[in-house]
Parts: sequence; structure tokens; C-alpha cells
Amino acid sequence: MRILVTGGAGFLGSHLCERLIEQGNEVICLDNFFTGRKENITHLLPNPRFELVRHDVIDPFKFEVDQIYNLACPASPPHYQYNPIKTTKTSVMGAINCLGLAKRVKARVFQASTSEVYGDPQVHPQTEDYWGHVNPIGRRSCYDEGKRCAETLFFDYHRENKVDIRVIRIFNTYGPRMLANDGRVVSNFIVQALKGEDLTVYGDGSQTRSFCFVDDLVEGFIRFMNQTETVGPMNLGNPGEFTMLELAELVLKTVGGKAKITHKPLPADDPKQRRPDISLARRVLKWEPKIPLEDGLKRTVAYFKTQV
Ligand code: NAD
Ligand code: UDP
Repeated sequence: MRILVTGGAGFLGSHLCERLIEQGNEVICLDNFFTGRKENITHLLPNPRFELVRHDVIDPFKFEVDQIYNLACPASPPHYQYNPIKTTKTSVMGAINCLGLAKRVKARVFQASTSEVYGDPQVHPQTEDYWGHVNPIGRRSCYDEGKRCAETLFFDYHRENKVDIRVIRIFNTYGPRMLANDGRVVSNFIVQALKGEDLTVYGDGSQTRSFCFVDDLVEGFIRFMNQTETVGPMNLGNPGEFTMLELAELVLKTVGGKAKITHKPLPADDPKQRRPDISLARRVLKWEPKIPLEDGLKRTVAYFKTQV
């Protein structure tokens, strides 16, 4: 197949491009390099089945493709809050442009949605039928509401225009090729520990997240894209749930050294707890994460040792 991956030079996108190329597909990677890097896909450039296009998803684009994976959007809070209006435009106009293209060329189109559509959830663990608890006017809203609006567009194009959609809700995912200055918790803690700096736990560290290793997630992406039982939304993530203090301790144990834990103020609207209910993915995709946090952290630490 010929497959377009928007945001393909980013953390998740580059792993996805790699896997799609390994499977024998032709891949067009479209990225504006806001948080993505050429280094993430340099090894794919010599492959004649791989093409790189510098482009912004808020401007229309046309490619004759069979499938589109729409991943373009900064994902870490410091990056998506850097230019919040642009973040909303990226989610909303990027979705419209991908859906318009999918309609025109009859491609199947995948949206990388997020557990952030559940906001600071009052239902735990989160199931796909939960509508969420989202602040529409806060610092995280540009991302959360942009992604919610993108889901709305996907389902309206599906109902109105019969566009063949797939919507996945990704829970916190980590691994090699995250940026050292990404700002998300796993990369922050690992980089701090490697530099011997104190690990910055925001608030008292009792808030929870569930961390999925990138290889597990990408496997889920491809299984979901290529099945016909459901268009989603479907949760994908690792149901293991950890407090940020537990994560900090695990990183310290993995990296070793003398770093300690320090506390910083909790950002506004920071979700208190998050864990995916992945019953739907288990049933439909026969999928569940295989890589426990301890193993995934070891692999991610090995990567960051080459970066810092
Ligand atoms: P990332 O920041 O590494 O990747 C995003 C990519 O999109 C980058 O390459 C960036 O340059 C590109 N991009 C941003 N704005 C663009 C624009 N306007 N036009 C073209 N390219 C643009 O983040 P990631 O973790 O790889 O996330 C990929 C996708 O998955 C995002 O849509 C994100 O919202 C979603 N997601 C990720 C996670 C996670 O834990 N990693 C969780 C939930 C959802
Ligand atoms: N966090 C932290 N220290 C950091 C970065 C993040 O304690 O250096 C916390 C953050 O407040 C949140 C959790 O870790 O409770 C996950 O944050 P991240 O930005 O990785 O993802 P998200 O909040 O979008 O799930």
C-alpha cells in the first residue's frame, strides 16, 4: 500500500514509518518539524519506498494514497502550550485536510486521538463510552478541545460522507526518540537522572498515569487500522497504573547514581488519575501491551545515554 503519515518525523510517527516500511509499504512522511526531527527518519531516507515532505497540515495537500495516519500535533504540554492557537489549528484544520483527502482518494484515515479527551476523568479506569471532564478554557484546552473537535469531524465525515475512519485514543506512551527537552514526565525524569539533577515531581506526586512502550503501541496502531470490525474510538495504552513518585523511584533505580527527588508546583488542570480500560482492544485486536514499564525504561534509558 501507499501510506501517508502526518507527523511522521516525530516520536511515534517515526516508529510507525519504520514499521510500515518493514512491512513492504510505500510511505510518505509529512512533517513541519515543529517537534519532529530529520534524525528520527534519516535511516529511512535511502529507502526508495520512503519519501519525506516538509509541509504544514493546516495547509491542504494531495497525495494518491490508500491509507492516511494523522499524527501531526505537538503532544507534550510545554510544546502544545507554546503556541496554543496553532495547536488547535493543527488538530482541527489538519483533521479537515486529512478527511478531505481521504474522501477524495477513498483512503482509510486514522486519527491519533488521546486520553486527554477524557480530561481530568471522574470515571476510572476510562472506557470509550465516557464523555470526559474537560475544562474548555484552560491551558490544556487547546490540545484537549482540538483533539475532541478532530474526533467530531472524523465521525461527521464518516456519517455524512462515508469516509472510512479509524479513531484511536492513545494513553501516555514513551520510548526512544522522545526529545530530551520534550517536557513529558518519562523523558524529563530520565534526562535529569542521567545528568545527576534532581527529578522534578510536580505536586505531591500522587497523580497517576499508565505508560505504554512505543513498540507495543505501534503494533496496536497497525492492527487497528487494518481491521474492519470497528471504526473506534478505541483506547490503546498500558493498563499498569503508577503514581509519579513511583515512576521517579523506578527511574532512579534504573539509572542509578545520586539524583534525588524535588517537588515543583502542579500545573493547572493536571489530571489526577488515568488508566485505560483496554477490553475493546483486547477483544477486537487480540492486543495487549507486552513490555512492562521496567523493561521499557531500560530501553529508553539506553537511548537517552546516547543523547545527553
Ligand atoms: P511528537 O511531538 O514527537 O510528534 C508530533 C509530530 O507532528 C512532530 O514530528 C511534529 O513536528 C509534527 N507536527 C506538529 N505540528 C504539525 C503541523 N502543523 N504540520 C505538520 N507536522 C506537524 O509527539 P508524539 O508523541 O509522537 O505524538 C504523535 C501523535 O500522537 C500526536 O497527534 C499526539 O497528540 C498523539 N498522542 C501521543 C501520545 C503520547 O503519549 N506519545 C498520547 C496521546 C496522543
Ligand atoms: N510531571 C512531573 N514532572 C515532570 C513532568 C511531568 O511530575 O517533570 C507530571 C505531570 O504533572 C503529570 C504527569 O507527570 O501529572 C504526566 O505528565 P506528562 O506531561 O508526561 O503527560 P500528561 O500530563 O499529558 O499525561
